Amino acid sequence: MKYALVTGGSRGLGRAVCYKLAEMGIPVLINYQSNQAAAEEVRDNICQNGGNATLIRFDVSKQDEVEQALTQWEAEHPDDYIAYLVNNAGIRRDNVMFMMPDADWHSVVDTSLNGFFYVTRQLLPKMMMRKHGGRIVNMASLSGLKGMAGQVNYSAAKAGLIGATKALAQEVAARQVTVNAVAPGFIETDMTKDLPMDELKNLVPMKRFGKPDEVAALVGFLCSDAASYITGEVISINGGLY
Ligand code: NAP
Repeated sequence: MKYALVTGGSRGLGRAVCYKLAEMGIPVLINYQSNQAAAEEVRDNICQNGGNATLIRFDVSKQDEVEQALTQWEAEHPDDYIAYLVNNAGIRRDNVMFMMPDADWHSVVDTSLNGFFYVTRQLLPKMMMRKHGGRIVNMASLSGLKGMAGQVNYSAAKAGLIGATKALAQEVAARQVTVNAVAPGFIETDMTKDLPMDELKNLVPMKRFGKPDEVAALVGFLCSDAASYITGEVISINGGLY
């Protein structure tokens, strides 16, 4: 069986992606870091609607945890493989750079960029060996494309993720593995709930924040057969904000 793994699948964009992929009939592994109750709710909702979902806890920024959890899953599923990988887990620790503590630089880069590296490296061999290949979708950001003041750490991590997406796409294209990035603008999730939405939405040509479902629809498309010839792309989803 071909499974999907969504990192940070317990809340926000990751949760919406889990629902979308399950709706497409794909069994989903819901990764989370600490919020087990939220992850269980996603799993239960999918299962109640006839889908197939399992929890898999690890911190994407910790190489040993990633390797341990995924090696164990692979050992328990010798006939299955993770064909769809959505590297979505990410955090924000905003500050102007001259006041940014080391920890805030490292935790943001460790989660978005190193997390992508640890998880993807572990799953690539199986994806590349199978005839049907695989799909990798990386959750980047508008900040990684244009840079955002107060987010030097986050912009650097997401820009790094975009570069990695383009390079990896070329490495694995011949093995039928596509690698793309999605770059959302402001989307209504826990990550943005402390932002002044009324003020910021005026910057968006569509005059509103996006919904997680709108991003999930794009990720679902990139994982579908219809997107089989798209690779190395960064697709913005931002209501016209650049
Ligand atoms: P969110 O609501 O804060 O949810 C974050 C998710 O990531 C949670 O499921 C959380 O798990 C998980 N997570 C955080 N650190 C992790 C770690 N080290 N290991 C495993 N899981 C971890 O965030 P969101 O808004 O959905 O954002 C999802 C992604 O989209 C991020 O990469 C973010 O940078 C990107 N993005 C968001 C926006 C936006 O406007 N919301 C815009 C552009 C890009 P727990 O529940 O266990 O804490």
